Amino acid sequence: MEYHGMLTTGLTDSWDVAPGVAGLRTLFANLAFVSLAPEKWILVDAGLGNFAGSIVRAAQTSYPGAPQAIILTHGHFDHVGNLRELLEEWKGTPIYAHREELPYLTGRQDYPPADASVGGGLMSAAAPLYPHRAIDLGPAVQPLPDDGSVPGAPGWKWVHTPGHSPGHISLFREADRVLLSGDALLTVKQESALAVVTQRQELHGPPAYFTTDWEAAEQSVRRLALLDPKVLLPGHGLPMAGPELGPQLAELCRTFKEKELPEQGRYV
Ligand SMILES: [Zn+2]
Ligand SMILES: [Zn+2]
Repeated sequence: MEYHGMLTTGLTDSWDVAPGVAGLRTLFANLAFVSLAPEKWILVDAGLGNFAGSIVRAAQTSYPGAPQAIILTHGHFDHVGNLRELLEEWKGTPIYAHREELPYLTGRQDYPPADASVGGGLMSAAAPLYPHRAIDLGPAVQPLPDDGSVPGAPGWKWVHTPGHSPGHISLFREADRVLLSGDALLTVKQESALAVVTQRQELHGPPAYFTTDWEAAEQSVRRLALLDPKVLLPGHGLPMAGPELGPQLAELCRTFKEKELPEQGRYV
């Protein structure tokens, strides 16, 4: 199935991914609106900075008021960029992330710097410019419940998918096998600016310049493959659904070491 953007402006794009699940692209990072019941919805990730207005506008057209919660797949700059502005708009909205991601969201620990030496294209070459310092959300951010449930989102569960970052999670809705994979599984070769601009669709592992544990990253892709997703909205790249998803995911698992692992890099 091909997804066609509804409001392509170059800077943003949006997609109806599955019933009650909409994706929004902020330049090159995706976030998701998940509606649960009339008047109830959650936001998954908060996009690249300077897009708070686009996010609020997109939310207002379909969802009333503030979200029940903001769930973070992880704390990299391109997934938390608008939180401050969004929290001003939606005061008191709780934010949830995996326990192991909290140090990077409460100012206690910085991520290791992005590694340009992994190669693969312009997005990697620009890696030294990417912010890696922890943001401090203070008490607004809380750990996700240990039982895998997603606060405010019955029918969804979170799955620990570390490797790209220690507390990275993905979200899964079992009923129709919808997967929001964050940066654990992408549909674009994120290291390459050309692939990012053309959004040529092919399944890949996480962006190499920020991935610090490749063993865990591979295990995480296998864990996601076992979920047998039918619809995928990744943190980068276009949504994907249909019969090609399963075979492509199996192929990615088979070839992960040889194709996804950078030949060189600080964290390899
Ligand atoms: Zn990331
Ligand atoms: Zn990312």
